[in-house]
Amino acid sequence: MTLAPAPAFAQAQAAEVDCEQVKCIALTFDDGPGKYAGTLLDTLKKYDAKATFFLEGQYVNSRPAFVKRMVAEGHEVGNHSYKHPDFTKIDAGVIRSEIKKTQDAVKKASGVEPKLLRPPYGLADIQVSDVATEFGMPMVLWTAGSHDWDTKNEEAIKKKVLEVAERDGIILMHDWVKQTVDGMPSIIKSLQAKGYRLVTVSDVIKRQNLQPGQIFPVPEGWEK
Ligand SMILES: [Zn+2]
Repeated sequence: MTLAPAPAFAQAQAAEVDCEQVKCIALTFDDGPGKYAGTLLDTLKKYDAKATFFLEGQYVNSRPAFVKRMVAEGHEVGNHSYKHPDFTKIDAGVIRSEIKKTQDAVKKASGVEPKLLRPPYGLADIQVSDVATEFGMPMVLWTAGSHDWDTKNEEAIKKKVLEVAERDGIILMHDWVKQTVDGMPSIIKSLQAKGYRLVTVSDVIKRQNLQPGQIFPVPEGWEK
C-alpha cells in the first residue's frame, strides 16, 4: 500500500540531488516567513532553485500561505523557534514550548513538520541539544553568513555571498531584508554560472548522517 499525501498538501516531487556528484550549495533564509517571501519564492521558481527556510512560529501563524507555498514548491522548512529567544538563557520547558508551537504551526500551515532545528542566533548548549533530541531533530547552523541584516545593501550582499560560496556550503540570509530579496535574481544567476546547484540543507548534509541533538557545523568550543 502506498501512503499518498493529502492532495491539498502534495509536495512537489523534487528530483533527488546527489551532492557527491553535483556541486551543491544551500541558501537558507531565517526568521520568516518575512514579508518579501512571495517575491523570493517567485525568483526561486523562475531559476529552478531550492532553498531552506528556518521559520519563526509567530510568523508562520501570521503568514501561513507562504509556508504552504514553500513546501508545495519543493523547498525545505526548518524550525527557528516561535519568538526567537536565546535558547541558552531559558529553561528547558520554554525551549520545548518554543519548538513545539512552531512544529504545530508549520504542520497546520503546510502539512509537514520541520526535521531540522536552527536555534536563534545559532546559539546552543547541552540543554538545547537534549531538547532537540526529544524532538528527533539535529541542529543546523551555517558555514557562512551574508551579513545581509547588517549591510542592507544589495551589492554588498551579493559580493559577500559570492565570496563565501563553497561546495556544500550553507549560507545564512534573511527574507525580511528587502535588499536580499531584490538581489536574489542576480545572486542565483551568478552562483549557477559558477556551476552551483541550489539545493536544500537536507541535500547538502545528507552525508553527515546527523543524529537528533547533534549540531552541524560543530561550533568552536562545542563539547559532545
Ligand atoms: Zn534568527
